[in-house]
Amino acid sequence: MYKYETHVHTSETSACASANGAAQAMFYKSKGYTGIVVTDHFFNGNTSVPHELPWEEKVNRFCLGYEKAKEQGDKIGLDVFFGWEYSYHGADLLTYGLDKQWLLKHPMVMDMDVNSYCDFVREQGGIIVHAHPFREADYIAMIRLFPRKCDACEIINSCRSDFENNMAKHYAESYGLRPFAGSDNHSAAQEKLNGVDFDEIITSEQHFAQLIKEDKYRIF
Ligand SMILES: [Zn+2]
Ligand SMILES: [Zn+2]
Repeated sequence: MYKYETHVHTSETSACASANGAAQAMFYKSKGYTGIVVTDHFFNGNTSVPHELPWEEKVNRFCLGYEKAKEQGDKIGLDVFFGWEYSYHGADLLTYGLDKQWLLKHPMVMDMDVNSYCDFVREQGGIIVHAHPFREADYIAMIRLFPRKCDACEIINSCRSDFENNMAKHYAESYGLRPFAGSDNHSAAQEKLNGVDFDEIITSEQHFAQLIKEDKYRIF
């Protein structure tokens, strides 16, 4: 059994995170994880990347947290993968299975409406996981659901209430969405941790997405 964190932020890239990429890698190594997927807030979310930069520079800057985590992970024996958390008016869509090279080649993702974005990512071999779909907060005007556009849905997000997670579970079960779990860890000091485990070691972003699509994983 190999444990992975699916939802983690770094202070290099996410404006709301307090732990840097290296600290996150150290934290998960100390907890016995095999790997993590760094899912910093995308350009339409709470990112610290300046908006006015040209695309290539922007992507390079966005990958900084992931790269720092990976650099540390390589030193200590923790596998670090790339993903991101795309935002649409308070709805957050974790995107897995695509890498930095893919992102560099597809600046048009920023010009797509949210449904086209989901379709495109999935066509390209990625997966969309709706993070904490029933999250309630002052900045979220309404709960938005995308039942036909997602591969899975977080039914356990460590930072959300039991009520919010239970609503997500009912939703996922009703629509036949795969269950998913993640910690949404911004601090490298979080006590409640959730994620997924596999029977095999993950070798790439693509491999991670593939095993989710094949239902070869468990949530914890
Ligand atoms: Zn955040
Ligand atoms: Zn998050």
